Amino acid sequence: MNIRYINADKLYKGLDKAVINNSTRISSKGDVTYIEFTPFDEFDWVKLHFSTRLGGVSEGIYSSMNFSFDRGDAYDNVYKNYELFLDTMDLKPEYCVCTKQTHTTNVLVVDSDMAGMGLTKPRSFDKVDGLVTDEPELCLVTYFADCVPVYFIDPVNRCIGASHSGWRGTVANITHETVKLMNRTYGSKPDDIHAFIGPSICQDCYEVDEAVIRQFKAAYNTKECDMMFYHTRDDKYQLNLQTANYFNMVNEGIKPENIGISNLCTSCNSDWLFSHRASHGQRGVLCGFMSICR
Ligand SMILES: [Zn+2]
Repeated sequence: MNIRYINADKLYKGLDKAVINNSTRISSKGDVTYIEFTPFDEFDWVKLHFSTRLGGVSEGIYSSMNFSFDRGDAYDNVYKNYELFLDTMDLKPEYCVCTKQTHTTNVLVVDSDMAGMGLTKPRSFDKVDGLVTDEPELCLVTYFADCVPVYFIDPVNRCIGASHSGWRGTVANITHETVKLMNRTYGSKPDDIHAFIGPSICQDCYEVDEAVIRQFKAAYNTKECDMMFYHTRDDKYQLNLQTANYFNMVNEGIKPENIGISNLCTSCNSDWLFSHRASHGQRGVLCGFMSICR
């Protein structure tokens, strides 16, 4: 396994105080290889494991640890992957609550009535890209393959949030919706929240059109835009989604020193992380499993 790290001095220049270098730890248990976020180590009451492609039973473009039932992979193989991963992490399928991601900014409060939804029983919801909870043992399950995972921990009110922030979720600011819901539901103050921007496509790998950039120009100020994208040729730009999500967090009132950013790009590491761009859409999905320990 060849690990290629993002050059933080180049791509995340000027993101003061955020924890970037050594922000991820790659570990293995048995055949299962997974990623942990070191700035969250201090919160021993929270479990957060991010998957890789390694250790599952799926084949071909889904090889091997694919968690999507919706992309043409064999149901039994996908379910087996959940069992393998969850068993390794000492988590239970019937406590998982899985998003139904459609690039919205809809975030849902999850309680024990919803345990198992999307995995061991049908969902009662649709079009949900983020989940929050304060209930121990419930596992918030979110899916990625280049899009940006954003995670939130409030140690004061002991609640957590997990959201899917692709370019649409980023420019529409799902971070704002997640933090707002944590505030409204649990009393979380942005000041207290610790956040992490997970493995996702880096700026060097992420070319977008003018139409996308136009939306970012409308949502961010000039200084932020200057740090977020640059023009290459014709109507093409290179967009930095991690930087955009960092600004979403800081503008929400989260302290820069409480923000961690992954130094792993999914596309640079597409041999062991699923990447939509690198695979031209022929791929499975990675998964983040986040829960409060009982
Ligand atoms: Zn990259």
